Order: sequence, then C-alpha cells, then structure tokens
Amino acid sequence: MSSVHLEEQHVRGLLSHDVHNAAFLSMLAKYRGLLSSVYGPCGASILVQNAAGQETLVSSSSEIVKQLSFAHPCVKYINAIISAQNTSCSLNGLYAGLLCVRLLEETLKCEEDIPHAVVNSVSEYIVTQLLNHLGKSPVQVVMDLDIGDMSQVISFVKTILKAKSTLGLTPSVIDSLSISIVKAFLKSVPNEYSSEGFGHVSVITRDDSSSLESRVFDGVLYREPDLCPERIAKLKSQRNLKLLLFTVALTFIEEENVSVHWSGHGTKEENFVNTVLPCLKMAMKGRGIHILANQKPVDPVIKYELQRSGWMVLERLGSSVTEAVERISFCQPVTTLMHLSQQLATITLGNLTSVDHVVCNGKSYILLDHCEGSVSSLLLPSASPSVVSILKETVESCLAALRMVVVDGKVVAGGGCLEAWASSYLSDHLSGTATLPPGATPHHLNKVGSAFVQVLMEIALLPSGGLTTKLDWSVDSVFHHLWHTPPNIVRETGKTDNSSSIPKHCVCGLVQWEAVKYRHSGKLQPVELKINPVQFLQGRQKKSKICKLTGADCSNADSEGSYTSRSGGGLRGRCMEEDSLEGSQTTSEEEVDSLEKVISHQEGEIDSLEGKLDSFDDDEDSLEGLLDRVVESNSRMEDPTYEARLEGHVSEALYDSFPAKFNAVRLALESFSQLLHIGHCVFDQ
Ligand SMILES: [Zn+2]
Repeated sequence: MSSVHLEEQHVRGLLSHDVHNAAFLSMLAKYRGLLSSVYGPCGASILVQNAAGQETLVSSSSEIVKQLSFAHPCVKYINAIISAQNTSCSLNGLYAGLLCVRLLEETLKCEEDIPHAVVNSVSEYIVTQLLNHLGKSPVQVVMDLDIGDMSQVISFVKTILKAKSTLGLTPSVIDSLSISIVKAFLKSVPNEYSSEGFGHVSVITRDDSSSLESRVFDGVLYREPDLCPERIAKLKSQRNLKLLLFTVALTFIEEENVSVHWSGHGTKEENFVNTVLPCLKMAMKGRGIHILANQKPVDPVIKYELQRSGWMVLERLGSSVTEAVERISFCQPVTTLMHLSQQLATITLGNLTSVDHVVCNGKSYILLDHCEGSVSSLLLPSASPSVVSILKETVESCLAALRMVVVDGKVVAGGGCLEAWASSYLSDHLSGTATLPPGATPHHLNKVGSAFVQVLMEIALLPSGGLTTKLDWSVDSVFHHLWHTPPNIVRETGKTDNSSSIPKHCVCGLVQWEAVKYRHSGKLQPVELKINPVQFLQGRQKKSKICKLTGADCSNADSEGSYTSRSGGGLRGRCMEEDSLEGSQTTSEEEVDSLEKVISHQEGEIDSLEGKLDSFDDDEDSLEGLLDRVVESNSRMEDPTYEARLEGHVSEALYDSFPAKFNAVRLALESFSQLLHIGHCVFDQ
C-alpha cells in the first residue's frame, strides 16, 4: 500500500479552536468594545452598512442583534442572551451581554495560571453567592417605589430616557415626555386589576418635524391623511359603533392567496374584488357594521366602493395600532380569507363608544375609544428619522418598566451604584468567607474574585466614561455606592479645597453624604479594581479564628483549615510568593492607591472636623443633637445585625427596575457559567 502526502489544506475536516487562542480572545474584546461603545449616557451610535450598501444607525442592543451578523458561535450565544433579556423585560439587554462577555474575558485570563476546573468551581461559587444575596433585595441598593408618588415614578422613567444619549433630547423634552409616558401608562391601567393584566399603550411616532410636544389620548390614535370630517361627524352621533378588523391584506397577492380560488373571466385582481366585495357588503349591511379596519392594505377599489356606500375604512394600521384596536373593542380579527362569508357571519365584532377627529400640528388623526377600554395613545415628539425607531423602543422600555414596577414595586440604585455595591460586596464577602470551593486555595479565590470585582467596578464606571476616570471615583464605606470625587483643586492659596471635592450625594442620588458621615460614621474609599491580597488573607484568618472560638457550624471552615495545614507551609508559601510577585508588578499602582487612601483619610478627618464646626455654627444643630447623633451611630455600630438602608426617595434620583436588572444579572452570570465550560468552539459549516 502506498502512502500519499496531502497538503494541509486538504486535511481540514474540523473547523475548531481552543478558547484560549489569542484570536478568540481578541475577537471577544472587539465584540465587547462594540457593546460598550453604545452603553449608557456616554454611548455612541454605530453606523452599519449592510450587504446591499444601505446604511443604518444602530444604538440599542436589539438593533445590534438584528442588524449585524455575527459568525462566531460564542458571540451568537451572547446575542441570544441579549435577545432573551429584551424579550422578557424590554430593558438591560446590553447590560446582560456586556456583563457576560467581560466576565468571560477576565476569567479566561485567570486560566493562564489556575487550572480550568478550579476557575470553573470558584466562578460558580461566586456567582451563587452574588445571586443569592442580590435575590434577597439588599437594603443598601434596593428600595420600594411608591407608585402613588408621581415624582418618584417620573424620576424612574427619566433614568431610562436619559440613558440613551443618542436620542438627543433636551432636558425640557425629557421632562415633558416622562410626564406623558406616566400619564399614558396610568390611562392604560384598568380600574379593577383583572387576569387580563394591563391595558395597552399605543406609541405613535410623528411624521412632521417641528413639534417637540408629546400628547396623550384616551383610546387609539391613528394617523389618517385623507380623512373626511363629514363621515366622522355622522359617526360621532352614534353611541355604539360596530367594527370589523382584518389582519390579512384585502388585496390580491399572488403567493399568499393561492389557496383561495378566485375564478372568473377578468384579471386575477378583478376576480378578487368581485368575490370579496359582495361578501363584505353583505356582512357590513347585515350585521350593522360601521367601520372596517385593517392592519394591512385594502384594495383601492374595495376601499372606494365601501366608502361610497357610507362605511369608514381604515387601512395599514400596523401591528401596534391593530393590537390596540383589538384590545379596546374586544373584537376577534379576521386572519385569513378562506371561507370568508362564513367567517364574516360568525366572527366577534368590536364595539366602540366614540370616534373623533383630532388635529395635531396641522395633521389629521382619528381617535377611536371605548369608555370601558384600558387603551391609551401616546403621540411622541418629533425626532430625526435616524432616531425615530430608537425613541419608540426606549419609550416602550419605559412602559414595560412601569408595568414591572407596579407588579413588583421594587427599584434598584442606578447610575453605577448597584455595580459598585456588588463589587464591594464581593470584595468584603470573599475575604471574610469561611468556605472554599472544592479544590481551590485562598489564592485562587482571591484571583478569580478579583476578576469579578474588577468587571463589576468597570461596569459601574462605564456610564460616567469608563475606567480612565478611576481616580475621580470613590465608594462609601456604609452603603458602598459610587461617588464622584475629582482630585482636590489647589487654590491660589496653595491649600487644597476639601469641601468642593465631596458631592452632597452619591451618583444615583439616594445616599446623602450627611447620612454617611454623621449617621453612620462612614467615609469614602477610592474604587478598588481587585481584592487587596493583604486584607484578603487577614480577613480570612480573622474569620476562621472567630469560627474556631464560637465552634458553631464551621465544618467547612475546619476542613479548610485542615486542608491548608495538611498541605503544609509549602502551599501557603507558594501562594504568598505568587501574591508578592503580583504585588511587585502592581507596586506603583498600589502606591498611588495607598497614597490616595492617606490623602482621603486625612481629608476625611479634616472634613469631619469641619463638619463638626459647621454643625456648631448651625442654630438648629445644637450640641446635644450632635452628641445624640454620635451616641446613635455608636449604638448602631455595636449592633451586628444593623444594616444601613436607603432612606427614601430623593428627587431626580437614578432608579432602575429591580426585577429587570436582577433578571439581567442572573441571565448574564448563569450564561457566563455555561460559556466557561466551553473548551473548544467548532464551526459546523
Ligand atoms: Zn447611589
């Protein structure tokens, strides 16, 4: 048997590569860059040119997924997460994708010196800890929204509108639009909550370019360019109007109508009209129908003939208005033209109690309403053609968020405060934890934990411009919210100005500096992008000592203790060595950090001194008051079960929907765990 030498290209039967491949990692980084470029108030748009050479501006996750084609199975998987989040909550799709891809990038880096199985088990451990804690609605970041308090509800809507800078809305337009959204939503809430759930808000975009006004109407608003006022005047006098709704085109379409036999001597179009029109006329007359509405087009001959006989014909409603008509009139739509005359004889007709003619900015609209229907229409302000669809999508997100908040009632701190809290929580919790995931050492937990801490803090800073601004940001020691603390301004006198560097409240606005400083004796710390190795080990040692002293429920801690002692000093020693190696690489960074800490500590001292002097000056703050507060804060510090909680609504606070955000975090973390199991990506072509 002779052997044949084959060139490499002839033996490629399997297209596959390792996930640690540099090309894969750089592809992930590019994809993440794409997602983060459109994220938050600093986000930009992406200009996409499709295969046909058509250009589209894209600035939301749903459009990225729709407009761009991605080849890699891993990216397709993350896109599916984004779509799943958008489908279930209409919010935070980009956030879910970004969190997932960023965690994947950082944990894959950990695999350079930690075995895959250990990274996997440590990641799963951290994911479970974080989700369990967040699922309990932690009081430092989650609070109830009072749906009866309009200023809270409007703040909530504004946060969503402001997060899309590409819309280019001015503050006054955002103000009026957020009021309109809440109004339209309230009109759609049924008087009695039924199993049907909420009513419907039909969001209408304008086709004129001059009005910045948004308006809300009871009922369904529909733009009718060639409206006949006399016909409406005739219908206005009626109290009970009957409506027939179609969701199938009433025109001849070659492919779609093949199943129906349109026989006759004329052209196919003529035969279609000659068959359908008499059916329609008979039903409309026989059942006393006033209006024929169609989601799709109606043949011009049919429309003309019906209107000539006195009926009103509304066509090309689109899916959103059609849904609104269906819900307000409680009708059953005709979805196929098969057996048309039988269908028309039996189908449930819709009922309306009023039809009106509305003129907005010189354009004619028709308004259909039923006095008991929970449907409203929201006419959006004009927007440039490139952002109309994004504006509509964002408003739909606001409405979805309002529905969730009515059912659940919970909101979570926005603007990066939630992520800063999560990052700090992991940093504290992991260094104090008594248990270790199977096969992991403290070094492993510290390293993988640091990857999570870094990713969460990065995402916290993203709405404010990303990591480059790290030095300008701090986290408070009580609520762990994010604070904007730009470096001190050195005045002409050469003195640093402390009072100007600490703002009155955190980024989301829900935590006041006054509360952190006086009520809880807290301070600000620079943002950390990893767990401090020294604190990590100290924290762990302290915790295990406490466990041994109390001797309660510490089986895991004991086994961990025996594990470290069994492996002897060698392992611990290596651990420390690695840490010190890591330390030497980042010495300069840490030096800056520790310097910052010293400065901020001194600042804190000066501040508290200043604060005390201030409060002496203040007539209302008497000496007793100050002492009371100190006593109060001391007694709180002594109570181990005491938790600082958000105190209440602050106007202009940044809120996110808690159910939507929690769903996004859960989806991102669980999908990340799935993706981390992947060793190879195979292209089946
Ligand atoms: Zn905050």
